[in-house]
Amino acid sequence: MLAQRISLLSDSGTAAAREAATLAIAAGRQIVDLAAGEVFIEPPSSVREGAIAAINAGRNRYTDSIGLPPLRKAVAKKVSAETGTDWRADDIVITAGAKQGLLDAVLAVLDPGDEVIIIRPCWPTFPSQVLLAGAKPVFVEARPPTYIPDITRIRAAVTPHTKAIIINSPNNPTGAVYDRTILQAIGDLAINYQFWIVSDECYSSFVFTGGRHESIVTAHPSVRSRTIVVNAFSKELAITGWRLGYFAAPPEIISAAKKLQSHTTSNANVIAQHAILHHLQVGDGSFERVMHQRLSDARSVGLRILSSLHDVIPPRGAGSFFFYLDLSRLVADLPVRSPVGSADDIVRLLLDEADVACVAGAIFGDVNGLRLSFGAPPDLMEVGLRRVVETLNNLKTRQTAA
Ligand code: PLP
Repeated sequence: MLAQRISLLSDSGTAAAREAATLAIAAGRQIVDLAAGEVFIEPPSSVREGAIAAINAGRNRYTDSIGLPPLRKAVAKKVSAETGTDWRADDIVITAGAKQGLLDAVLAVLDPGDEVIIIRPCWPTFPSQVLLAGAKPVFVEARPPTYIPDITRIRAAVTPHTKAIIINSPNNPTGAVYDRTILQAIGDLAINYQFWIVSDECYSSFVFTGGRHESIVTAHPSVRSRTIVVNAFSKELAITGWRLGYFAAPPEIISAAKKLQSHTTSNANVIAQHAILHHLQVGDGSFERVMHQRLSDARSVGLRILSSLHDVIPPRGAGSFFFYLDLSRLVADLPVRSPVGSADDIVRLLLDEADVACVAGAIFGDVNGLRLSFGAPPDLMEVGLRRVVETLNNLKTRQTAA
C-alpha cells in the first residue's frame, strides 16, 4: 500500500495534454502542439559551448548542495540587476529548476495544519507541493478578464493559520502581470499578518505590456526578509530539460535549503551549472533579446487572430507565453443537450477534429479556461490558432444543428 501523500497529488495535467497529443502524432496525425509550457527555439550557443567544455574538462563530481560558489555569485549579480536591490552569493541557492526551489520553499516554512493562499487559476504544482508538505492550500480566485487577484478577497482568506502566500507573475496559465499596486498590497498583508511570500517569477523575462517585470521585492523592499524569490533558466534560455533554477531568500531559508538539497538531490546537475555560469560570463544579452522579440511578434500575430473570436473575449497575453481564454459565455450558450458542454470537451474536440493540442483550465482549477501557448514555432502557432478560432466560432451553429 502506498503512502497517503501520493493520493493527494494530481497527475501533471499539462503532461496529460501532451501525452494525448503524442499519441495522436504516433497515430500519424499532424498535430499542432499549443499545449507545451516551453519555447521552441535553440538555446544560446554560450550555454551549449559551456556544457561541452564542462564535459571535456571532466566536471563530473558533486558540487556544493546549493550550487557552485561562482555560479551563486553570478546569479546574485543577475538578480541584483533585475530587482534593483543588492544580493550576494550567500543569498542564492541553485536548484534543479524552479520546481525544486518551490519545493525547498514550502518544505522549509510549512508545518502540518498551516494554510497557504494560492491565487487560482494556478499552476497545479503549487497546491500539490503544499499538500506534500502536509499543509492546506486556500484558494483565492482571480477573475477574467485581467486575472489580477482582488486584495479584499486575499485578505478575507487570511486566518491565524496562514503561513504563506504563493504568487506567480507573469502568470501561468493566465498571462497576467501583477502591477506595483497589487504587489504592494500583498506585501502589506504579509507584513501585517506575518506570513511568507513565495514569489514564482520564472516567466520574468516575458512581459509584453507596460515595461519590465517587477519583482515583489522591488515593489515593496521591506518584504525581502519574508520572501523567497524563485526563478529558473528553464524558460528564459529554452532549456527546460536541463533543470537549472535558483532562488534568492533570507539566510534561514538558505540554511534550510542546504540541508534539504543535501538529502534529496545533492546538487543541481554539474554540467548545467557550468554551462549557465559560462553563459552568464560571456553572454551579451542578444539571445534574450531575440527570444523576447520572437515571442512579442508571436503574441501580436496571435492576438490579431484571436480578435476574430465571436463569443470569447480576446485574451490579453500580458506576460509569460500563454493566451488564456475564458470560455464561460460560449459554454453557457451551448444547447443543454449538446455533446460538447465544457471547456474540457472543447479541448478534446480541438484535438480530435482540428488537430490542435491545448490545455483545458480544469487542471489550473478553472473549469472555464483554455490555455494556448505562443511558444510554439511561429508558423505552426498561426495555423493552430486559426483552427482554434474556426472551431470555437462554429461551435454554436454546429451544436444547434446536431
Ligand atoms: N513555475 C511555473 C509557474 C511553471 O509554469 C513552471 C513550468 O512550467 C515551473 C515553475 C517549473 O519550472 P522549472 O522547469 O524550472 O522547474
